[in-house]
Amino acid sequence: MKSIEAVVNDIRPEILGHFINGTEVAGPERYSEVFNPATGAVSKHLSLAGPDELEQAIDAAKASGPVWRQTPPQKRAQVLFRYRELLVRHAAEICQLITAEHGKVITDAHGELSRGIEIVDYACGISELLKGEHSKNAGSAIDSWSEFQPLGLVAGITPFNFPAMVPLWMFPLAIACGNTFLLKPSERDPGAPLLLARLFQEAGLPDGVLSVINGDREIVDLMLQDKRIAAVSFVGSTLIAESVYRRASASGKRVQALGGAKNHAVIMPDADVGSTVSALIGAAYGSSGERCMAISVVVCVGEDTAERTVASLRERLAELKIGPGNDAENDMGPLISDQALARVKSYIGEGVAAGATLVVDGRQVSVPGFDRGFFLGPSLFDHVTSEMSIYRDEIFGPVLCVVRVETLEMAMTLVNQHEYGNGSCIFTRDGETARLFTDNVLAGMVGVNIALPVPVANQSFGGCKRSLFGDLYVYGPDAIRFYTRRKTITQRWPSSSTAEQTSFSFPSG
Ligand code: NAD
Repeated sequence: MKSIEAVVNDIRPEILGHFINGTEVAGPERYSEVFNPATGAVSKHLSLAGPDELEQAIDAAKASGPVWRQTPPQKRAQVLFRYRELLVRHAAEICQLITAEHGKVITDAHGELSRGIEIVDYACGISELLKGEHSKNAGSAIDSWSEFQPLGLVAGITPFNFPAMVPLWMFPLAIACGNTFLLKPSERDPGAPLLLARLFQEAGLPDGVLSVINGDREIVDLMLQDKRIAAVSFVGSTLIAESVYRRASASGKRVQALGGAKNHAVIMPDADVGSTVSALIGAAYGSSGERCMAISVVVCVGEDTAERTVASLRERLAELKIGPGNDAENDMGPLISDQALARVKSYIGEGVAAGATLVVDGRQVSVPGFDRGFFLGPSLFDHVTSEMSIYRDEIFGPVLCVVRVETLEMAMTLVNQHEYGNGSCIFTRDGETARLFTDNVLAGMVGVNIALPVPVANQSFGGCKRSLFGDLYVYGPDAIRFYTRRKTITQRWPSSSTAEQTSFSFPSG
C-alpha cells in the first residue's frame, strides 16, 4: 500500500523550479501557487529562489561568459537561427502553457509568440547590428573606430501579461550581443519562460549563458544589489519599475524600466465609426485588457462622435464571447487572478460611485462550467472625467472609458497631461490633423488609424513620462545600444620616416 505522503505527492500539482547552467534545479522549499485562471484551481507550485540559486546562476554565467563573449557574432547567430526553428516547431506547446497559466485565448498566445519570434529574427542579423563605426585618417596617420562590446551579465525581470514575448524582447538580443543573461519571469506564469530557456539550450546555447530563476520580490532585491550584474531590463507596473530603476541605478547598473500605461485613442468627427470601433474593441478588450498597449480611454471629439461611438461599442460588446482561453472561439479569457478580478470590479464600483455612466457592466458575466474562473465581461463607461480614478489609474482589465471633449486641442491636452505616456492613437481621415497629433502628442508609440501601434522588431518599443524610467527603449536598435558598451579606439602606426614629437597642447587633427 502507498504511504499517505506518496498519495499526496501523486495528486500534488507539479512543482516548477529554475533553469540554471543548462539543467533544471529544484530550489528551496518556499513556494508560490500558479493558477489555471479559467478554472480558478491551483495547477502548479513554484519554488521561489533565494541566494543559493542566484549564486549558482552567477557562477554559471561567469564560467560561460568569457567564451561566449569571444564567440564570433555569426556563430552566435547560427544558434539563434536554430532557436528560431525550435520556437516555431514548439509553438503549440509554448502557447498551451501561456493559456493554461495566463488565461489568454490560444490565438492571442500565438500572436504574442509570433511577435517574440520576430525579435529572434532581428537578433539573427547580429553581425550586421554590431558593426562598428570607422573613421579613416581621423588625424595624420591616425584611424579611429567605435566598437560595441558586451556588458557581461545582464538581468531581465518580466511581468505576467506576456510570459513569452516580453522575455523574448530581452534575452535573444542581449545574448546575441555577447552577454550572459539571468531571467526572473513573473511568478504567476513561469511555464513558458522555462520552456523558452530549455529550447535555447537545445539550439546549442552553451550552458550557463541563459539561466532562469523563479521567485518574487526577495530574489529581485538580491539581484538589484548584486554588483556582478551589469544591467537590468525591467517590465512591469510603474511603482515597481520606478523603485527598480532607482535601486539598480544606485548599485551602479545600467537600467531600463518600463512601467504601466493608460493609452488614449482620440476619435475625430470625420473617422469612420464602423472600422474605428472594430479596431478599438480588439485593442481595449483583447487579452481582457491585460496589455500595456491596451486602449483604456477613448476621447471622442464632439457629441455626435461620442453618441455614434458609444452606440456602436454597446452593440458590438454584446456579441463578445467570454470563456476559457483554450477554446479559440472565445474572444476573451479570464483575468490572471482572483485579486486582479476583485481589483477591476472595485474600479467599476468606483466609476459608478463617481458618476460615470456604466453603459455595459462586465460584472454580470457567468461562464457555465467555470464558476470559479476569474472571468469578467467587457465593461464600458461613458461620461468619464479626468479626476475619476477609472480615468487616472491603470485598471489593467476589460474596462474602457469614454471621455467627451469639444476639440482636438482639448483631447490632446488630456492625453499629454496624463501621467502615463506609453501609446496613443488618433482616428481621422485628415492628414493635417494626424500630423498635428503625431508631432505634439506625449507618448512613446503613436498610431494613426491603428489602435495598437506596437513597433515592429527592427524599431524599438517604449514610452515616456511614467511609462519608462531610463533612456533606451527595448528591442530594435536601442537594445543593441543598451546591451553593449561603446568603446572608441584611436590608433596610430607611425611611419618609419616620422619621429614622435612631444607636444603639450591638447591633441588636434
Ligand atoms: P508587477 O510590477 O507586479 O511585476 C513585474 C515583475 O516585478 C515580476 O517579475 C514580479 O515578480 C516583480 N515584482 C513584483 N513586485 C515586486 C517588488 N515589490 N519588488 C521587486 N520586484 C517585484 O507587474 P505585473 O502585474 O506582472 O504586470 C503588469 C504590469 O506590467 C502592468 O502595469 C503593465 O502595464 C506593465 N507592463 C508594461 C509593459 C511596457 O512595455 N511598458 C509591458 C508589459 C506589461
